Amino acid sequence: MTDTSRKIVIVGGGLSGLSAAFYVRKYYKEAGIKPEIIIVDKDKTLGGKIETLHRDGFVIEKGPDSFLARKTAMIDLAKELELDHELVTTNPNAKKTYILQKEKLHPMPAGLVLGIPTEIRPFLKSGLVSFKGKVRAMMDFILPPRRSKEDESLGQLIERRLGTEVLENMTEPLLAGIYAGDMHKISLQATFPQFGEIERQYGSLIRGMTTGRKPVETHTGTKKSAFLTFRQGLQSLVYALINDLHDVEQRTETAVTAIIVRDTDGTAEHPRYEVELDNGETLPADDIYVTVQNFAAADLLRSHVDVSALDAVNYVSVANVVMAFSKKDTATEYDGSGFLVPRKEGRNITACTWTSTKWLHTSPEDKVLLRFYVGRSGDEQNVQLPDEALAELVRKDVREIMGITAKPLFTEITRLMHSMPQYPVGHPGNISKLRDELGAVLPGVYAFGAGYDGIGMPDCIKQAKLTAEAAAKSLRQ
Ligand SMILES: Cc1cc2nc3c(=O)[nH]c(=O)nc-3n(C[C@H](O)[C@H](O)[C@H](O)COP(=O)(O)OP(=O)(O)OC[C@H]3O[C@@H](n4cnc5c(N)ncnc54)[C@H](O)[C@@H]3O)c2cc1C
Repeated sequence: MTDTSRKIVIVGGGLSGLSAAFYVRKYYKEAGIKPEIIIVDKDKTLGGKIETLHRDGFVIEKGPDSFLARKTAMIDLAKELELDHELVTTNPNAKKTYILQKEKLHPMPAGLVLGIPTEIRPFLKSGLVSFKGKVRAMMDFILPPRRSKEDESLGQLIERRLGTEVLENMTEPLLAGIYAGDMHKISLQATFPQFGEIERQYGSLIRGMTTGRKPVETHTGTKKSAFLTFRQGLQSLVYALINDLHDVEQRTETAVTAIIVRDTDGTAEHPRYEVELDNGETLPADDIYVTVQNFAAADLLRSHVDVSALDAVNYVSVANVVMAFSKKDTATEYDGSGFLVPRKEGRNITACTWTSTKWLHTSPEDKVLLRFYVGRSGDEQNVQLPDEALAELVRKDVREIMGITAKPLFTEITRLMHSMPQYPVGHPGNISKLRDELGAVLPGVYAFGAGYDGIGMPDCIKQAKLTAEAAAKSLRQ
């Protein structure tokens, strides 16, 4: 009888690595292959960026806080893990989002998607853009479209079509929470390629978004509640994956230090690779799924292939500062999900989520939970401040913007160093070249995760699923 087993090493046990293990097991088995999987992660726990803290009746997210429902990979995985009954939606009465401008919170006009007005009247009534800025935005209807399909920055597209005010007052703050990025550096093709297509097809972003198209839903604007999370926090998904993967070896506090090619034929009896660990051990591997951050992947792949595509992705550091208050101590009326802070306001925070209003399950009735974002591309110095100094900077903004002078009941600070990948212009093409070279030089070695084809959690799961499915298919053939 032929041996159908195959040794798989998954480097990194964040959401990308865990879902890779889940789908490798599923699809390899379906292909008649017996996968022997080992997940290796250098941290104490698996889950990477995802971590939920339960404290004094609060559900506090230390990393990501929810996901976009439209990208169904996360819901599909939750269903496969029988966790979908735990999914919760945002508070239907907290749909408003505010944007800070000159010390004042302005409601984001209805129908704004990435700064592009899909409803003209609320946009024209908004105090966020001057009369001149509105006239400039309306020029989108008449300016000739860019026909080239070549990548450009997201900032270039919005500024070209709608003007600098829309970019600075609406788009940049809307996207700061997702990418913590510099709009003039982030790739359009890697983030919102649909907007380039709309411009080419309709000659105008506003026309394209208001006529003949299904509404485009993004993280940054939609008519219906687009976000979901789990009642006990996002880490529920990590725990469900870890439990489900009980037949998979899970090694924590172990870093992968090198991928070594063995000069063999890549059969089950003779695995093609060895994965070197920081404890001196080596693991034989037929297939290797590299799901670590791009800078860590580059270190592992540099001696084999050109890793300039990985080196080009800068990672921004951010801090997540969560404060709990007694409701009676907070004067603000919470009728929305929070507010965004444009870069030019010069504040310490980049955004604030009114967590207890947006997600009703996260806080006791008489308490308020607020989450503040600190740090964005080109403005990361505060992230490293000692806890007290960082909390004080945030409290200054809280006092001045929201009028809350009370001391928080507690403050939870999480620093996520080098955590937000910034896809540069040309990123999709660079990654595709890297994958071609990997396929030729290191067959069976796959690289994906937040730094490649989408930073949202559903994007990470989708990449893991598609990679495992394609690998299993090629093995079956
Ligand atoms: C502050 C913040 C807020 C976010 N909010 C949201 C949100 O609301 N919604 C959303 O959809 N997404 C959000 N994201 C993005 C999302 O959290 C991430 O994209 C996703 O969790 C990344 O998963 P990953 O497995 O690709 O990477 P990671 O979670 O970074 O996992 C990589 C793993 O590799 C390990 N590793 C690194 N080097 C080695 C090595 N040499 N050997 C072994 N292991 C190694 C690390 O320890 C880590 O566990 C947010 C991200 C941040 C930082």
